[in-house]
Amino acid sequence: MTRMSTIFSKIISKDVPADIVYEDDIVLAFLDIHPIQPGHTLVIPKAPSENGIACDPDTLGHIMKIAQQIAKAQTSVLGCDGVNFFMNNGAAAGQEVFHTHLHVIPRFTDDNTFEKPLRGEYESGEATSLTASLAASLES
Ligand code: AMP
Repeated sequence: MTRMSTIFSKIISKDVPADIVYEDDIVLAFLDIHPIQPGHTLVIPKAPSENGIACDPDTLGHIMKIAQQIAKAQTSVLGCDGVNFFMNNGAAAGQEVFHTHLHVIPRFTDDNTFEKPLRGEYESGEATSLTASLAASLES
C-alpha cells in the first residue's frame, strides 16, 4: 500500500465501512474508530493528499468549515463544553494515516483527556528573531 492509498481511501470508496456523519463532493466526516472522546470525528478530503501541508488550501478551508459545523453539532448533541480541532502533519507530529485529516474532538470541563504538555521558554531575542523569519517567509 502506497502512502497515498490508505484505509481512508477505502472509506471514501465505501470498500471499508465507517460511521459517516457528513458527506459532500469535497469531504467526508466519520467517527474515529478509537475515539479520544465519544463523538471524536475525522474530517477528510476526498481528493487524496498526504497531509495538511500538501493539501490544496481551498480544500483545507472547506475541511475547517465543516469541522466548525460538526463542533456545533457535537455541542448540541453531546453537551460538550469545548471542542479541539487538531491535525497531525508528518510522522514526527504523530501522523499515522497519511491522508489529510482533521480531528474534531468534543471536550468536557476537567475531562483530563490530554496531559498538560511541557512548555519551554524562549531565549532572549529568540522569539523576535523567529517571528521575523516566519513573517518574511509568509510574505515571499
Ligand atoms: P493520526 O494519528 O492523526 O494519523 O490519526 C489517525 C486516526 O485514524 C486515529 O485516531 C485512528 O483511530 C483513526 N482511524 C484509523 N483507522 C480508522 C478507521 N478504519 N475508521 C475510523 N478511524 C480510523
